[in-house]
Amino acid sequence: MRADIAVSVPDATPPSLIDPLLAPAASLRGVGPSRGALLTRATGGTRVLDVLFHLPESFVDRRARPEIRAARRGEVVTLAVEVVRHEAPATQRQPWRVIVTDGTGTVELVFFKPQRAQTLALGSRILVSGKLEAYGERLSMPHPEHIVPADQPERLPAIEPVWPLTAGLFAWHLRPVLTQALALVPPLPEWHDGPLMRREGWPSFGDALRALHAPRDPPGPKPRARLAYDELLAHQIALAWVKQRERTRPGRALAGTGALRDEALRRFGHTLTPSQAEALAEIDANMAAPTRMLRLLQGDVGSGKTLVAALAMLRAVESGAQAALMAPTETLARQHLRTLEAICPVPVALLTGSVKGTARRNTLLGLATGRIPIVIGTHALFQEAVEYKDLGLAVIDEQHRFGVDQRLSLGGKGERTDVLVMTATPIPRTLLLTQWGEMEVSRLSGKPAGRQPIRTTVHSLSLLPDVVAAMARALDRGERIFWVCPLVSESETLDVAAAEDRYQALRQRFGNRVGLAHGQMAPELREGALAAFARGATQLLVATTVIEVGVDVPEASVMVIDHAERFGLAQLHQLRGRVGRGAAASFCLLLHEDGLTETARRRLLLLRDTEDGFVIADEDFRLRGGGDLLGTRQSGQPGWRLADPVEHEGLLRMAAGDAALLLERDPRLETPRGQAIRLLLRLFDRGAALRTLQAG
Ligand code: ADP
Ligand code: MG
Repeated sequence: MRADIAVSVPDATPPSLIDPLLAPAASLRGVGPSRGALLTRATGGTRVLDVLFHLPESFVDRRARPEIRAARRGEVVTLAVEVVRHEAPATQRQPWRVIVTDGTGTVELVFFKPQRAQTLALGSRILVSGKLEAYGERLSMPHPEHIVPADQPERLPAIEPVWPLTAGLFAWHLRPVLTQALALVPPLPEWHDGPLMRREGWPSFGDALRALHAPRDPPGPKPRARLAYDELLAHQIALAWVKQRERTRPGRALAGTGALRDEALRRFGHTLTPSQAEALAEIDANMAAPTRMLRLLQGDVGSGKTLVAALAMLRAVESGAQAALMAPTETLARQHLRTLEAICPVPVALLTGSVKGTARRNTLLGLATGRIPIVIGTHALFQEAVEYKDLGLAVIDEQHRFGVDQRLSLGGKGERTDVLVMTATPIPRTLLLTQWGEMEVSRLSGKPAGRQPIRTTVHSLSLLPDVVAAMARALDRGERIFWVCPLVSESETLDVAAAEDRYQALRQRFGNRVGLAHGQMAPELREGALAAFARGATQLLVATTVIEVGVDVPEASVMVIDHAERFGLAQLHQLRGRVGRGAAASFCLLLHEDGLTETARRRLLLLRDTEDGFVIADEDFRLRGGGDLLGTRQSGQPGWRLADPVEHEGLLRMAAGDAALLLERDPRLETPRGQAIRLLLRLFDRGAALRTLQAG
């Protein structure tokens, strides 16, 4: 019966060793429709493999068999005892008690289901396991977890896995299902490198599963690490495969002459920072190569990414092709337009949702004929109706929320179009590997010369009057201050109310030097408030996070963040980047409620102590324990089932290197190890990579 199910697995690949693991869990004994539904809820899948990948989160050690007089209170113990007395309850609501002894002391077993107590005959010898509790002199074991006859000790699990469960599903449901599932795990060829296996002392795939689901001894970290590495390696190979395919897909050589670029730099009036020069050299090398560029340019707000992107775009134009820059918002698109118009010696057009009528038709025509070499816009740029004569380079700003597949399609206006993604959100190294693994990365570190460090301080809101007094002095010196209020509640209205309250209070103190900008204002009013602040008509701008993305006011030198503990660390870092853009010394004040948690406090202190976005991102990743990760939810990335990106960060890096090397040596997975790796990819649903491999 099971064999039939195995061959009917809906996949064009030939029958394989692992087919029994891909069979439905419903094919196991004891898994009917309702149990099956519970299993799916708990394991997140419907196959035998999903049950096997449902790893225990901890283990109960039942090997301790102390005498009662020496047994530790509050711990799980196994006692070898004789039943001496039953105490039936006086009322139905009271529990049933069974008194047992081993000659060194007595314990009351407490049962809330009398049927279970009644099976224990007076004088019988049993092994009973559970948590021992003490009430004064009396020892008790409320609802014992295991009771077996003393002459059948093998029926008591010595090391008992604790699986994550769901309402209605119990460990005694899972155990027999797992026993059957484990029996289906065939001996498999080892897909990991031999020396690696020896160095790490890892068990085989099957042994690792058995060591976790049916342990004889405490499993230690190795079985779990091995399975985590299986999962990480499968993912890294899939990414490396995409990367390799994209790299080797014919692109085009955009060599450039340097003429436009020299002129742009002359107009700009500064030389490149060493870090900009290095990033540009990496980009140039990709563009000059006859293959397609897929590169991520990472750098803090103000680190000079736009200039680098502009110079890359000019190179495409020098080579006779076109270049497009896509920004996430209309405001940012317009800001980029101003920057590029100031330095580019060629026409630059704008294409956003608000460009309409004749202007839009002209731009579309210009792009189709090639008369317009450079265009800046929003996602409108990549819509169906937009035709390019010859798009050589697509630059995408701030699109860290896209997943791998979407990024690959972004260059879709030309399969051969080079792609440069810019992000100001520092991405932790670990996430770079897991989510951007198919891209090469350039990092801009440091800031352009002449920019001042930002001094960051942390203050309790209970000292608000002191902060306001300090702001009064700053205003009198003529400084400009951002005062950011958090988005906290589900209801934007409440947030706006908080910002408005703060605005009213500050306005009472500082009069019409204070402005307000938030997301619920009419756009003209908001733009007006931002503009008034930008030209100095107001000096203190109370705002919600509308200012987070791309408000450029070089004269702003103070950033106050209200309830800083409510922001993400990356977001705080972005906000802080709004100051320190001019020549003046800058300050950032983080205001928080009293009674911060330890983690919250450490996050604010981290921000106080460093301005390096990459350090902040890596550390934030650790502090948050990899749980609610920036971008993981939105990007639709599959969650990890066996690996924990924080705990197994070292393994993740190893897997990235291992995958690259493997594909370099055995690009079509034909060696014995390559063949075994194919099994690994199927186990972890990376079959798509495999299919392109077979087709390609
Ligand atoms: P990003 O796009 O990374 O946020 P920008 O490209 O907007 O950063 O640069 C921030 C500021 O630094 C801009 O005012 C820009 O003109 C200036 N800048 C960039 N590169 C240099 C440089 N090499 N020398 C001097 N100023 C620079
Ligand atoms: Mg190229």
